[in-house]
Amino acid sequence: MSTALYSWSRLGLRTAAAAAGVEGPPTKLVFVVTKRCHSRCVYCDIWKVKDTPGGLDDELTLAEIRSLAAANPFLQWIDFTGGEPTDRPDFVEVVQAFAAACPDLLLVHFPTNGIATKRIDQVVAQLQATVRARLVVTVSIDGPPELNDRLRGIRNDFAHAVDTLAALRRRLGPDQLFVGMTLHGHKGSCGLTTSELVEQTFAAINDALAVREEPPIGWGSFHLNIPHLSQHYYGNSASEAKDGFGGPAHRAEVAAALRLAASKPKAGYSGMRAIERIYRSEALRYLATGKTHITCSALLSTAYLSEKGAVYPCTIWDRPLGNVRQSGFALLPIIEAARREGVRQAVIEGRCPNCWTPCEAYPAIGASPLRSLAAFVRGG
Ligand code: SF4
Ligand code: SF4
Repeated sequence: MSTALYSWSRLGLRTAAAAAGVEGPPTKLVFVVTKRCHSRCVYCDIWKVKDTPGGLDDELTLAEIRSLAAANPFLQWIDFTGGEPTDRPDFVEVVQAFAAACPDLLLVHFPTNGIATKRIDQVVAQLQATVRARLVVTVSIDGPPELNDRLRGIRNDFAHAVDTLAALRRRLGPDQLFVGMTLHGHKGSCGLTTSELVEQTFAAINDALAVREEPPIGWGSFHLNIPHLSQHYYGNSASEAKDGFGGPAHRAEVAAALRLAASKPKAGYSGMRAIERIYRSEALRYLATGKTHITCSALLSTAYLSEKGAVYPCTIWDRPLGNVRQSGFALLPIIEAARREGVRQAVIEGRCPNCWTPCEAYPAIGASPLRSLAAFVRGG
């Protein structure tokens, strides 16, 4: 059996074990590699960390990250996030450390603000040349040019992001490169509905690509994200709450936008499209009721690690569990202690903030085959 086939088989077996409730090591880690970021988004306070005295002190060093990778060789899927991951000067070495220490590592994803096109392109080129795992990149664009630049606080941010998209599509296939648009309540301030903004953003991206003599992206490459609050990650609980975020009107707008995107024609068919149908179906349920039928995988098959080594159940729940600096960089003792304390049971029973973020939703879909099948059939 080839190495990749063996690793995929292991991921399949471990996902099946998680579906049966077997609590083993996590398959997926969301790892904040840095809180450096040169965007100035109105809905996220991470960019302020670098301007806060001592804010960037104590981020895990490369030597510590190498120890972390060596202590957790079971990881198969890592979301390297930030901040802007490529703002960390040794980001390539960070990913390489996990690739070297985790023999079954299959998926490496990172989001990017797309500001520093040349550097981001170089990072992707270096990762492609040295890391065997499949690389997936999401470029963040949150509206048509004027709105995007206002929301993200950077002049010409939209143009930079499209430049980055154009550069990366020469290296990555269509199933490795996506645009991510988060549907924040702030967008209503320009007088358009969220659905109209989604249509305008998609059209503006393709107009900008046409100016660069690049072919258009399809709706299959354009991902819409439900926004969430997270004090320990985004630090946005106060800034979002004042704009009607998460209220009934905002939820209805987000649901309409998800239905709009679902109605758009998409080329081909793939397993990823099936997963997205399930994600959307449950997202619509979540927006209507605040709950999903698919049980979250946090502390079953996923975990979250901050840039300073703190372990949390996920991106959203501000529930610190321990620090890898006190566990020899091993995740499992911290996760097992949390399970013993009933934190995993709290997730199962919905006694957490409840959310439906792609970070946690995609592994949860794999670990809940019957409910996922029902969501697929229901559609949305
Ligand atoms: S949303 Fe992303 S790009 Fe914007 S400030 Fe936060 S980390 Fe930076
Ligand atoms: S459902 Fe709960 S534990 Fe799972 S990601 Fe959301 S807040 Fe975290």
